[in-house]
Amino acid sequence: HSEPIGDFGLIGLAVMGQNLILNVNDHGFVAVAYNRTVSKVDHFLENEAKGTNIIGARSIEDFVNKLKCPRKIMLLVKAGSAVDDFIEQLIPYLKKDDIIIDGGNSHFPDSIRRCKYLEEKGFRFIGCGVSGGESGARYGPSLMPGGTPSAWEHVRPIFQAIAAKADNEPCCDWVGETGAGHYVKMVHNGIEYGDMQLICEAYHIMREGLELSHDEIGDVFELWNKGELDSYLIEITRNIVRYKDTDGVPLVEKVKDTAGQKGTGKWTAISALDLGMPVTLIGEAVFSRTLSALKDERIRASKLLRGPNNPKFNGDKQIFIRQLGQALYASKLISYAQGFMLLREAAKDNNWNLNYAGIALMWRGGCIIRSAFLGDIKNAYVNDPNLENLLFAPYFKKAVEDAQDSWRHVISQAVLLGIPIPAFSTALAFYDGYRHEKLPANLLQSQRDYFGAHTFRYLDECIDAQHPSGDIHINWTGEG
Ligand code: NAP
Repeated sequence: HSEPIGDFGLIGLAVMGQNLILNVNDHGFVAVAYNRTVSKVDHFLENEAKGTNIIGARSIEDFVNKLKCPRKIMLLVKAGSAVDDFIEQLIPYLKKDDIIIDGGNSHFPDSIRRCKYLEEKGFRFIGCGVSGGESGARYGPSLMPGGTPSAWEHVRPIFQAIAAKADNEPCCDWVGETGAGHYVKMVHNGIEYGDMQLICEAYHIMREGLELSHDEIGDVFELWNKGELDSYLIEITRNIVRYKDTDGVPLVEKVKDTAGQKGTGKWTAISALDLGMPVTLIGEAVFSRTLSALKDERIRASKLLRGPNNPKFNGDKQIFIRQLGQALYASKLISYAQGFMLLREAAKDNNWNLNYAGIALMWRGGCIIRSAFLGDIKNAYVNDPNLENLLFAPYFKKAVEDAQDSWRHVISQAVLLGIPIPAFSTALAFYDGYRHEKLPANLLQSQRDYFGAHTFRYLDECIDAQHPSGDIHINWTGEG
């Protein structure tokens, strides 16, 4: 028996695993590779990993024995039962305090369960959100690890070395306990849905409302990418709208307008509903995808259902484009405010100590929603770690106020033109609802009490205090 020399073990040599292990190797760590179909290990070592220090393993036992203690074993396999299967296969060979890291797109309740299960057996678990796709895995992903806190110091040097860097800082920090890493990754994906939907609505307004050409739209995105909207998604959108098919037609116009989804946006919306948090923009983004998918029905509806008469934009296009950029920025800010509200509530619900500035930093680079804007969010939480709402940060409060008139103008124009802008409008509706001290829920509570004796409370705290049982029911009709 030779002494184990492996610093890091990786199971799962598909696209993500291969790229990530090469990245680990690049940073001077000795990595050990294993895969269910063992022939893929040899194939990998003889091809992609040729000339590296990566070591192959031919069985789980062989794999575990090649790793130094406490072992750091990352699974990058298909989410679901494959993760549980590998955990069961590993357990007989593990020593106390060894660390299993799940880097797949697991749903956070599974990570909460696995963390508890492994901790009960004396092992440690990390559920790690990995974003950035194939090239991220290879050259710098955004990594969102959460689980057994004592595991962090052991994986930290490796994770922060291989992670993307933004403003010279690694886009990887400890997120929180149990399933917090996968929860944060899920919310990242939900926010990604929202950002994409907002950009699509801006494009729709420019195409249909302003009747701009694709090159002109590309120029607008190019300009936006130089300012406060500077982000990966704006950058790729610029490239997409400019891309011409072989016949010179913008390829984007040939792409069928039915959106697909893998479910992480839906998970985020479901979690928001479960926790009672108004994460309306991500919800609208998910519903917008489902509406787009009703293509055949929409074709029939387009022939039957009329919109406004003679919708025509007759303002100044250049001024409007500036206002549109402001509307996009303000709506995006609302979406992130909602996302962080959800994180706060999930932290409360699960007893997680979430690191909000760290989360913004992890999203700052390496992942799909990476943007300059996330640097500003990070600063807001660094300045005030107990910030109740992003909209309360002086920087963002001012940003929304400055954008407000443009935002309202753009939304009313789109409504008059009959262009659907669910994400833009829900963002503004949220802002207006959130900033109202009094909402019409007084009437709603009265209705509930009227028809269902669901009771209500008095607004005036002195009067309310005279009803120690709390809930009041009134006979609204006066009938017996
Ligand atoms: P994948 O196609 O999701 O999974 C393939 C890998 O899982 C292979 O190593 C395969 O082994 C193994 N596997 C599948 N079913 C198994 C089972 N029942 N038991 C044991 N092993 C099983 O690979 P991927 O695209 O590289 O993604 C890996 C993970 O990262 C997934 O959870 C994915 O959601 C997540 N992720 C992917 C991306 C991306 O851009 N692709 C980005 C972030 C996160 P065999 O070779 O033996 O079939």
